[in-house]
Amino acid sequence: MSGEKTLIRDGLVVTMDADRRVVSRGAVMVEGDRIAAVGGVDDVLRYGKPDRVVEARDSIVMPGLICAHTHLYGIALRGAALNIKPPSDFLQILQRVWWPLDEKLNNDDAYATALAACMEFALSGTTAFADTYSAPNGIEGSLDRIAEAVNKVGIRGIISFEATERRSEEEGRRGLEENIRFLKRGDRGRAIGMISLHASFTISDDLIRAGVEAAEKYKAPLTIHVSEGPNDVYHNIERYGKRTVERLRDVGLLSERAVLAHCVHLNVEEIRILGETKTNVAHNPMSNMLNAVGVQPLPEMLANGVNVSLGNDGYVFDMFENMRSCFLLHRVARRDPGVISAQKVVEMATIDAARAYGLRELGSLEPGKKADIIIIRPKILATPLTGSPYNYIVNGIKGGDVTHVFVDGELIAENQRLLKVAQEEAQKEVLGIIGRLWERLGSSPLEAVEPLKLR
Ligand SMILES: [Zn+2]
Repeated sequence: MSGEKTLIRDGLVVTMDADRRVVSRGAVMVEGDRIAAVGGVDDVLRYGKPDRVVEARDSIVMPGLICAHTHLYGIALRGAALNIKPPSDFLQILQRVWWPLDEKLNNDDAYATALAACMEFALSGTTAFADTYSAPNGIEGSLDRIAEAVNKVGIRGIISFEATERRSEEEGRRGLEENIRFLKRGDRGRAIGMISLHASFTISDDLIRAGVEAAEKYKAPLTIHVSEGPNDVYHNIERYGKRTVERLRDVGLLSERAVLAHCVHLNVEEIRILGETKTNVAHNPMSNMLNAVGVQPLPEMLANGVNVSLGNDGYVFDMFENMRSCFLLHRVARRDPGVISAQKVVEMATIDAARAYGLRELGSLEPGKKADIIIIRPKILATPLTGSPYNYIVNGIKGGDVTHVFVDGELIAENQRLLKVAQEEAQKEVLGIIGRLWERLGSSPLEAVEPLKLR
């Protein structure tokens, strides 16, 4: 190991290692892009004299959060006043909100939305994410522009283009090709590629097989939306005579390489199949609530040994809010306060998310791993940081409490300021491009929308 040594000292170190070790008044030594030592301050100091010291007193030191499923371009919908007939189910949300948006996107929009979302992720303590982009009229080259935004902010992004045969087989082939082109590209910086397929109700068996083949050839993760709404289940039963997960198994998609987003409408047999095939799941509780699709059977998944990670599905980019929502949703849904622990939720946003994408060097603070680290200092410390760190993180922290964000040992944000990107300039650039996108979408900020009718 070589490179500049940074000592983070005197914090409550939440390692997320195999023993889930927590060290009070702990320290982490970073050397170059790796973690060199973790433990008590004196033990870590034995590793050598640091070039730089970061004080973490009254702070939590933990691995950077990993968002296991996102759509960076979803940030363009924030506050949009879309002049549309209000959707009444999930399919209509896709047809009236998401698909009209993605049809308007060009490569500048890919870049601007990614830049905005990456800045929010970084400032709120997310150091890595898995993104799926969709733009039927801007496929080729889109991933290069998203990678440009990722590297500008300095965050780590697994990025992909969502292949779909929503309109034609050719569209599916071109989407898959964009993923393969990016996977073959050299010098991608902190942007990593993967294969992405939209959902089983918009793709044929042939496209699934081609996606699986490409993922194996390039040793890349493979992601797909699964039974987010009930329409996916109906489609597969009607067309193939089987449920969604059964069809994906029969066509060869399920494996340790696959990350299935959502999995809300699964039966017990499908959950058992996921456990048996070691297939990963990305759970998106806030998005599921927003789209009113239902509650994922998380307790059954965990009981069947399914590795479930946590995503935001392009909705709220503060992963602390997503952790808290996950924690609360399943309690109220089952009316059981013991149904999920705060520790499990933190695992889903760190070590389990890293495992889902085969990122063995991320997700925990351990010697030899990549130094993707965040420091959190609550603005008001009402209670000592000596109780349950997981309860503190899930119930008492928000993204704005993050003071330091390291990726590959490089400090990319400090005291809520990004260090690699000129924030004001980037903000202006984003607003200019997304403002023009809004004009094309027919959204004007002051336009009245139909008020919500209570039934
Ligand atoms: Zn999604």
